[in-house]
Amino acid sequence: GPLVEVRNVSKIYGRPPRQVVAVERVSFEIRPGEFVALLGPSGCGKSTLLRMITGLAQPSEGEIRYRGQPLRGINPYATIVFQTFALYPWLTVLGNVELALKARGVPPAQRRERALQLIDMVGLDGFEHAYPRELSGGMRQKVGFARALAAEPELLCMDEPFSALDVLSAEALRGELMELWLSKRLPIQAILLVTHNIEEAVWMADRLILMDKDPGRVIAELEVRLPHPRR
Ligand code: ADP
Ligand code: ADP
Repeated sequence: GPLVEVRNVSKIYGRPPRQVVAVERVSFEIRPGEFVALLGPSGCGKSTLLRMITGLAQPSEGEIRYRGQPLRGINPYATIVFQTFALYPWLTVLGNVELALKARGVPPAQRRERALQLIDMVGLDGFEHAYPRELSGGMRQKVGFARALAAEPELLCMDEPFSALDVLSAEALRGELMELWLSKRLPIQAILLVTHNIEEAVWMADRLILMDKDPGRVIAELEVRLPHPRR
């Protein structure tokens, strides 16, 4: 069965007369093995949908199911990578990743080794003891990925993870992420990428979900059939 089912979900912020219909009757599924991109203009409800799928926000109407079960509260199987990294500036690379392992309940004795493995996996070995301010944007986002992977999510959600990076760093990081994903070395079952970069979406994803705004609705779903350069 599907990993995620979004069924007729609406999200309304505020109260009349200052109501914002952020998402209106949106339905879609994400199946195991899929890389799905959610595309649309700023304000069409992409982040709101990600927050609802990860349990950080609740639908006003409709239902979200995870592995067939209605989602209540935080989704323990999903993690978000944010556009602006959201690292703790007072912690080193190692400290940031170890904290995520601590949050998951990994015992202290295993945290260091696991953190070092994750840091190595994203290509940041040698920078364990650096602070976020000492790193480039691309390297900070690698820490963001390492931290997200520390949670061992089944569903990796990403909210514009490349858009705060310069063009070259973004391209490099996209390539590295695709390599990891296609190598199946990640214990991840599915990826949901929010972006407004159609080229990025087509290059990375198996399926595109296109949204429009005012109100935020799904207007199309497209399978990507182009031969993939990395497949
Ligand atoms: P996107 O990620 O596609 O840019 P968002 O989900 O951030 O869209 O926002 C969708 C709409 O909901 C926008 O009009 C936004 O201003 C509004 N919105 C988002 N979060 C809130 C909030 N916490 N309170 C009120 N309005 C919000
Ligand atoms: P993005 O478009 O990059 O997804 P936004 O600027 O829409 O991000 O939203 C950033 C944060 O501000 C989110 O946490 C969202 O909930 C909140 N937010 C967005 N629009 C509003 C709003 N109109 N009122 C209150 N909070 C909002």
